Formats: sequence, structure tokens, C-alpha cells
Amino acid sequence: MRYSQLLIPTTKEVPAEAEVISHQLLLRGGFIRKLTAGVYSYLPLGFRVLRKVMTIVREEMDRAGAQEILMPMVQPGDLWMESGRWQHYGPELLRFRDRGERDCCLSPTAEEVVTDLARRELRSYRQLPVNLYQIQTKYRDEMRPRFGLMRGREFIMKDAYSFDADDEGASASYEKMRVAYNRIFTRFGLDYRMVDADSGSIGGSFSHEFMVLADAGEDTLVLCRDCDYASNVEKAAVSAPEPRHDTEAPQEMQRIATPGKKKVASVAEFLNVPPEKIIKTLIFRADEECVAALVRGDREVQTVKLKNLLGASEVEALNEDQIWEHLRLPVGYIGPVNMPLRVAADNEVMDMVNAVCGANEKGFHYQGVNPKRDFSVQMTGDLRQVAAEDRCPHCGGPLHFREGMEVGHIFKLGTKYSAAMNATFQDAEGGQKPFVMGCYGIGVSRILAACIEQNHDDKGIIFPVPLAPFQVILLNLGMDDADLTQRAEQLYQELLAAGVEVLFDDRDERPGAKFNDADLLGIPFRLTVGKTFKKEGKLELRDRKSGETTLLAAEEAVAEVKARIAKALDL
Ligand code: ATP
Ligand code: MG
Repeated sequence: MRYSQLLIPTTKEVPAEAEVISHQLLLRGGFIRKLTAGVYSYLPLGFRVLRKVMTIVREEMDRAGAQEILMPMVQPGDLWMESGRWQHYGPELLRFRDRGERDCCLSPTAEEVVTDLARRELRSYRQLPVNLYQIQTKYRDEMRPRFGLMRGREFIMKDAYSFDADDEGASASYEKMRVAYNRIFTRFGLDYRMVDADSGSIGGSFSHEFMVLADAGEDTLVLCRDCDYASNVEKAAVSAPEPRHDTEAPQEMQRIATPGKKKVASVAEFLNVPPEKIIKTLIFRADEECVAALVRGDREVQTVKLKNLLGASEVEALNEDQIWEHLRLPVGYIGPVNMPLRVAADNEVMDMVNAVCGANEKGFHYQGVNPKRDFSVQMTGDLRQVAAEDRCPHCGGPLHFREGMEVGHIFKLGTKYSAAMNATFQDAEGGQKPFVMGCYGIGVSRILAACIEQNHDDKGIIFPVPLAPFQVILLNLGMDDADLTQRAEQLYQELLAAGVEVLFDDRDERPGAKFNDADLLGIPFRLTVGKTFKKEGKLELRDRKSGETTLLAAEEAVAEVKARIAKALDL
């Protein structure tokens, strides 16, 4: 296509509202424009990338035997009441009423609608397994829409749902999706990891996330250096502590003044004890209840683990003002002795001897605290976040951390929705059984952001060939030279005829502006018809990623470009 005829509104200025690089470059490159918070239009280049993503997703879903459908975006509230999520989904679900006063919502996901479809259309075990998918706009009224396409309120998702007769079948369907997802992310040309994940509010038994490695990612991954263990930090298990062999005799518990010492480090210094001798007490709201969570002073509470231990659907740390206002507990001096709330303790805490903790009184701590003797605990378990010194739970190898962006998530759901919504089929013996389900999401529009977070430099985007809006950008630098212009036009036609996706920069712009835009847009290969061509009859081919340039005779150029593209697209 001709650059002069496309809407590609590039800008030099970095937009003030854009904090992360992908958001900046998507705006500067004219890929997207904001309508309102978290809601974007895709301009021609942005939409071309989106279509590339969708095509690869479709091809691999179809290859895995899934069937594409398209379900409505407006969903009846009744279905959500049947599943129980009308009450539980929270404010991300955009609810409204139609003129007949019926409750409705905009689809944030489609378990209810697809389960309703299945209970109407799938009657017998002979029709199973079935996997239905769609690529559709979703709406979630996120509390903090931010980072452009990374966390929108309106975004595009591929969501798939499998229906099986039994658990074995459901595992096979899950496995097919696991393979398909690995093919999809490999074909995108992105550096990603599949990690063990928490099942979250969608529920169900186990799940994996697909993470694109990028520093701006909102998730932390725990990876082993020696084996292929990879987990979301939310889920990464810590093995139970070794039994203690030291023989420290338990002391009396004593209340001591620690004026102004509110932080673990300052209490440790003041009392001359190591931080691992201190019990850190944090207050959380878990659904309707407030609870206290205990970890060693040198550890962090992992909120998702706490949520799972409590069986809560939402857990949130309370801040100092809330804790004082609602509970009259002085932050910095809170402890489990005589704690009015239920207490959940990390495994390590239960093994502590002669520990220090807050006395629930401003300016005071207790010393010589022994958990089993001095306070009561309602729940114990693995509550703390994995730390750098922990070992791999599979092989004992050293762990390391990376930041990542969640671009896909696959779940084994079991019968959570089919049982709640009475979605059954007739089995071989003639009885009625609920479907065993799985669900599988890909953040189609988020992939644009993830791709750019991972692939850019200070000049702009560096698209991997499979996702690039165009494969080649052809620059005519001799707009006022009839000979060069004629050659560039001819080359453009040849590239088109060879099936190459080419953007022809035929604008009446200075060479500098054309080079800058080509770099900003991130098109993998740049062909220049300019001075060298005039002098030596050679074209310049430049690789956006490596920066390498090659001089080619005009006759060779098309074949060389085609060969490079074919190589990059080869799975
Ligand atoms: P997150 O933890 O990032 O909020 P999620 O667990 O809510 O994601 P799912 O319900 O599993 O996400 O949705 C499937 C996929 O949709 C995610 O893997 C992600 O890539 C994408 N996605 C989810 N929320 C958004 C959003 N607000 N904007 C863009 N993409 C999103
Ligand atoms: Mg979410």
C-alpha cells in the first residue's frame, strides 16, 4: 500500500499520558488512538497487526480441532445469577438495564453464555468432545485502566471453552490447548514462558499462564536455572521448613518499650536481633472479614496464597488509617498476642523460638514470644512469597525472577459452571451428567503491547516478521528524480506481484523524515531507492533488528527479501 494514502498519524513528541514504552510507541506510530479511559480505536497499522495476531490464533485453534463461533457481547443478567457470579464478579462487570428493566451486562468473559449454549445444543455423550471459541470484544470496568493496550477496559480476547464427558477427556482437551498455545506464541516470534498459575476467580482445579517476558510486565515469574520449572510468583510454592535442631530454651514473654520503632529493620536494630526473629503481622480484608497474617520479619506475605488459604474470593491489604479507624490497632506495633481477629500464620512462624512481635499498643513490643504457647492461630500454611534464596521445588536448583505480561491463560474448570447451571448430557448408560469443562483465553489486543515492550529500541518498534503490519517498507528518496521514481514504482509493483506485504513510502518528505518513520513503525526490512542506485545501480536493504545493511542489484532485491521473510515465518 502507498504510505501517502494511508492514515498513519506519526508524532515526534512522547505523549505525556503514556507511561510505558508500548503505549508511547503505539500512539507515536499512529497505531491506536484513545477514545476514553481504557478504550481505543485501532487505526490502519494497528488493525493490520491485530489481524496478524488473529490469523495465527485462528489457524492454530482450528488445527487443534476447535470451532469458531461468535457470541453476543450483551449478556442477560439471569445467566450470571444462575452461575452465582452476578453477586461475586464485582465492579469490573459493567451492568445495566434494558428498557424492560431486565438486568444485563457487557461480556467480560463468556462461561455463562457458552454453558447455556451447550446445555441446549449438546445432548449426548456422542456429540462430545466439543471446543468452541470466539475472537470478540470484551469489556471489564477495570479500576485502573492503564498502559494503553496492556490493561484496557474494552479489549479483544480469544476465548475458548471445551466440553467433555469425563475428567480424562477434559485433560486431553486441556493438553490440546496447551500444545496449540505453545505453537501460537512461538509463531508470534515472542520470547515467552508457560508458567504454573493460580486459578483465580474463574475457579477450577489448575491452570497455566503464558507470559511474554518484558520488564514492564505486571507479573513476576519464578524460574529455575537448572530445570524447566516456571511459576507465577503468586503460585510458586515454598517447601515446608526443615525441622529445627537448635536447642534454644524458651524464655518468658516480656513487654518492652520500643518508642518510634515501627519497621522490622528499626525494631531489629533497636533490640539487636536479626529480622528473622521478628514476627511481622499484617492486616487484610478478606471478603467481609478482617484477618491478621503472620510471616517472619524478613519475608513478604503473598496475597494470593493468603486468599486461597482463607478460601476468600477477594483479599486486600488494609492501610494504616483503615486499620486504626476500624480496628484501633496501631500499625508498627501490631502482633498476634491477644489479637481480636482470626490469625493465619506462615509455616515458618510456627517454628520460631523467642520471637519479637508487636504488643498491640503504641510504642511497645513483646520479646520471648513462642507461638504455640503465647497466641492462638486459626490457620497455618504456605503464605509467604518465594525469595531469591529459596530453592527450586522440583530439582533444588537456584531460582531467579523475571517480569512478564500475561497474554494467555488456560484453565481446567471441571463442573463448576455446568453443575451450577444444570448443563448436562446423556452418558452411555442413559444417565444425566454435567459437562466437564475447560476455558482458554488469549489477550489478542494485549499482545500488541507485549510485542512492543519486548521488541523496541530508542528509535521505535522492532516488529518480529510474523506480527509486523508490513514486511517491507520501500523508500523512494528521489521524489524529484523521474528516473529514481520510475524505478521505485517498478520495484513496488514487483514486490506486490511477489506477494510481499510492502508499504511504499511515496510521500513528498525529506529522506530524514522517511528514515525516522520507518524506524518508528518497526517494519522488519527497509529497501531504499536513492543515491546509491543512481550511482551504482544498487538498492540498500536494511534489517531493522540487526541494523545490518546490504547492497543489492535491483534484480536480486525481490528474491532476497522473499527469502528473508520465508525464513522468519518458518515455524
Ligand atoms: P489480569 O490478571 O491481567 O487482569 P485476568 O486473569 O483477569 O488478567 P483472564 O480472565 O484470564 O485475565 O483473561 C484472558 C486474557 O485476556 C488474559 O490472559 C489477558 O491477556 C487478557 N486480558 C485480561 N484483562 C485485560 C485487560 N483489562 N486489557 C487487555 N487484556 C486483558
Ligand atoms: Mg483481570
